[in-house]
Order: sequence, then structure tokens, then C-alpha cells
Amino acid sequence: MFRVVLASLLLATPAAAQDPLKVVTTFTVIADMARNVAGDAAEVVSVTRPGAEIHGYSPTPGDLRGAIDADLILWNGLNLELWFAQFLENLGDIPAATISDGVEPIPIAEGAYEGRANPHAWMGADAAMVYVDNIRDALSEVDPSNAETYAANAEAYKAKIAATLEPIRAELAAIPEERRWLVTCEGAFSYLARDLGLREMFLWPMNTDAVGTPQQVRRVIDGVRDHDIPVVFCESTVNTDPARQVARETGAAYGGELYVDSLSEADGPVPTYLDLLRVTSETVARGLTGAR
Ligand SMILES: [Zn+2]
Repeated sequence: MFRVVLASLLLATPAAAQDPLKVVTTFTVIADMARNVAGDAAEVVSVTRPGAEIHGYSPTPGDLRGAIDADLILWNGLNLELWFAQFLENLGDIPAATISDGVEPIPIAEGAYEGRANPHAWMGADAAMVYVDNIRDALSEVDPSNAETYAANAEAYKAKIAATLEPIRAELAAIPEERRWLVTCEGAFSYLARDLGLREMFLWPMNTDAVGTPQQVRRVIDGVRDHDIPVVFCESTVNTDPARQVARETGAAYGGELYVDSLSEADGPVPTYLDLLRVTSETVARGLTGAR
């Protein structure tokens, strides 16, 4: 009898140990970061889908059902997900970690959110390292048995992030300083611009503000002319018409879409966060150097 019980325990234990953690994230970028840190030890899902607008998202009843059995929820914070407090309240008692905790925020320069933290910190190399550490710590807290795995994965992943940005930083450093402008739709690139030594100009400060008004377009047209800026960009999750209009009216090139708030589908150009960093930075560098 004892032997039978022991045998069934031995059989049951490995299965229970392999039952992966369920981690729910608010958007695809954090989901991919979390997958890299978790490896096989967790199943990671994102509430918002690839390509979605994430700031003012409205969670559906299905989103709530998909998150109700989560062991851990990861969100950005810094005023990114305006819908998150309500979402979490509806879920009840699930541990949630704010993965931007400890990031040195860059304030938003203008608009309805002036003076508040710019939320897009994952675009900066230093801040991204803080994100990875916070994900590692949150996973280890809910799943201490895999803490060593999370720590090793986090270190390897941080090295990859640094290696992804290094060549682009060198390429941009070779561009004359007066050409080093990053003109975009949303003011989502403060952290990347700081890292890469670029000055920023944007049509609107946040996607949740008024977007693409005639005044915004006029102001950026004037700015592009004043500084003789060679190229204008927009992002994959918003209407690109106002940026294209700026390019048309100033004679600047339209440099294409940058990825910041969302990954693409698996078969698209930026299925991972490292791809997002690389493609966005390369698009900027290509636009500024005039190589097409
Ligand atoms: Zn954004």
C-alpha cells in the first residue's frame, strides 16, 4: 500500500513541477520580454493583440476571462495603460508587477500630460535593463523554484538588448549633429532619442491626446523647414497621413513606419522586442543618412 502511494506521488510530482506559470501582460512588447526571461517555465499572453493601440484600449469580457487564472500580471505603468487600474480591479486578487519601477522617467514636454512621465521607457537601453530585472524579480517571487533559470535568462537577454543597439549607436554617431533629428507622430521616442543622441520633434505628445490637428501639422512643417530636417517618420499603430502631409509640404522624405507600442504578427517585420529595437533604429538611421 505504502509503495503504491509513494509511486503515485513520484509520478505526480514531475507533472506538477512542469505545470507552467501563467503570466498575463498588457501589451505585446512586455509579453516578448517576459517570454525571454521565463523561457519554458511560464506561458505568457498579452491582453492587447499585435498592432493594437495600447494607451486607451478597452478590455473586453474575453480579455478578463483570459486573465482570471493568471499567476502574475505584468504591466508597464508610467501612465501607459490608462485602462489598467479598472482591469486589475475586475480581476480581483492577482499579483501584479509594474515593470517600469525604478526607471528614471523623462517628462512629457507638452499637451494634456505635460510634466508627467513619458511611458515609452522600453525604447531606452538603460530602462530596458530595469524592465528585464523587474520581470525576473516578479517571476522569481511567484515561482521561487525557477529563480535561477529566470536570473540566467535575464542576464543573457540583457546582453542581447545591448548588442542590438550598439551598432546603430555607432552608425548614428557618424551623422552630422545638425541632421540628427527624429520627427515622428507620437512623442514616443524620448528614451530612444536620448540614447542615440537625437533631438525630437513630434506631431502629438500622446496617442490619447488630440492627434493630427491642423495646428500640429502646421507647427511640425515649420519646425522641419526651420531646421532643414531631411526625413519624417510615423508609427505602425496610428494614422500616418499627417506625417506624410508634413513630408509632402516640406520636401522632406517620408522615412516609413517606426515600431514602438506594438510588435507585429509572427510573420511581420517585428515579431520580437529585439526586432522592434533593431528595425526602428535602422529605419531611423537609414532615413537620416539618406540611404534608401
Ligand atoms: Zn505610445
